[in-house]
Amino acid sequence: MKHLIAMSLILLGLAAPAARAALNVLSCEPEWAALAQELGGDLVEVSSATTALQDPHHIEARPSLLARARRADLLICTGAELETGWLPLLQREAGNARIQPGQPGYFEAARFARIIERPTALNRAQGDVHAAGNPHLHLDPRNIARVADGMAKRLADLDPANGARYAQRNADFQGHWAAAMARWEQQGARLRGAPVVVHHRNLSYLVDWLGLAVIGELEPKPGMEPTAGHLAELLETLKATPARMVLRAAYESPKASAWLASRANIPAMELPYTVGGSPGAKDLLGLFDDTLNRLLQAAP
Ligand SMILES: [Zn+2]
Repeated sequence: MKHLIAMSLILLGLAAPAARAALNVLSCEPEWAALAQELGGDLVEVSSATTALQDPHHIEARPSLLARARRADLLICTGAELETGWLPLLQREAGNARIQPGQPGYFEAARFARIIERPTALNRAQGDVHAAGNPHLHLDPRNIARVADGMAKRLADLDPANGARYAQRNADFQGHWAAAMARWEQQGARLRGAPVVVHHRNLSYLVDWLGLAVIGELEPKPGMEPTAGHLAELLETLKATPARMVLRAAYESPKASAWLASRANIPAMELPYTVGGSPGAKDLLGLFDDTLNRLLQAAP
């Protein structure tokens, strides 16, 4: 009898074997592709529009990316204006009603995260400041946990037949993640207060979470390339207020940080920034494991 029921369910397509993913997911950045994979397992087929070696503010929407956007059931992006340079065009050109702003098939991580560095009218004049606050929110692992809750619910909304599985996978993920965060916070405790120079404010959430102290930025203004004059000034600042290290993301040019680090006689440390940004950053756990290792290595 049991067999017969199972058989007829399969014939009706109600208990389809897991050969085909239920949802086709396209993410704007690798961190959200990795999170969707954690929460969806074999229920989702995931790809990312950008890699860890690309600047997520600026990419070109190539035809192959448009084709993926056309097929997607769910588009997962950071939001908070990170992708304003390319995402609206991608959504417009994709001809896919499911992934338009306001539709269930468009998910913005920033809506579920704690956002820092919201600009005031005064500092809006200080360069290319992100008006919605700092969008590089995934480098605070507490934000990853918040976004995971929102994302698991959205996956279940889009694929209600598997709703319980997304909820269960999220519960498992949250358990592992909380344990890992406790470990990272313990490891990172001795970095608290460490003075650092950063390339761009894409490390602000990491800095905020670990309690590092930023005493300078390689960019003269957010989003502007480092200049010789600004770097020379920064070197002067470091004579009075030494930093422990110069930090940059894997996708940023090493030139400016190498210049400053060699003259200030401190290490220049490349951080993976997102999944795929270093050999160790294979997934979200690896991203933070490797980031912590590199910071501790630079500040023994
Ligand atoms: Zn930015």
